[in-house]
Amino acid sequence: MSEAPEHESSQRSRMDSHWPSWQTGPCPSWCVQQHQEEDFPDDRKHQSQIVAVPAVWLDQSTLDEPADELVAGHLHLVVWQRIGTAETMVSLADEGYNGCFEVSFESANRLHHKLGELLDHIAGA
Ligand SMILES: [Zn+2]
Repeated sequence: MSEAPEHESSQRSRMDSHWPSWQTGPCPSWCVQQHQEEDFPDDRKHQSQIVAVPAVWLDQSTLDEPADELVAGHLHLVVWQRIGTAETMVSLADEGYNGCFEVSFESANRLHHKLGELLDHIAGA
């Protein structure tokens, strides 16, 4: 059973003793955001660096057409947590943010392990 990343005692948090009035505590160690007092409420979240993964996927952007066109680009992975909440989320989105899939940190861990098992099984078949 894995746990969400720790929320306190990162090196950055110890060094950064000032944060906006709306921020309820120090950033988790994985947060790369520079929070500002004037951040809009929707932007008030801890966020990891964005990991871009080269990928090919089916284009599902046109509802009228069969989704059989392959698109090459990058998929973006990012971990985030809305400030003041305990739920850590993982987002997977195409680089144009036309489609986004967001799951809890625990769900992402389960997907990670099960996808590894499935791919190992297929590769070994
Ligand atoms: Zn933060």
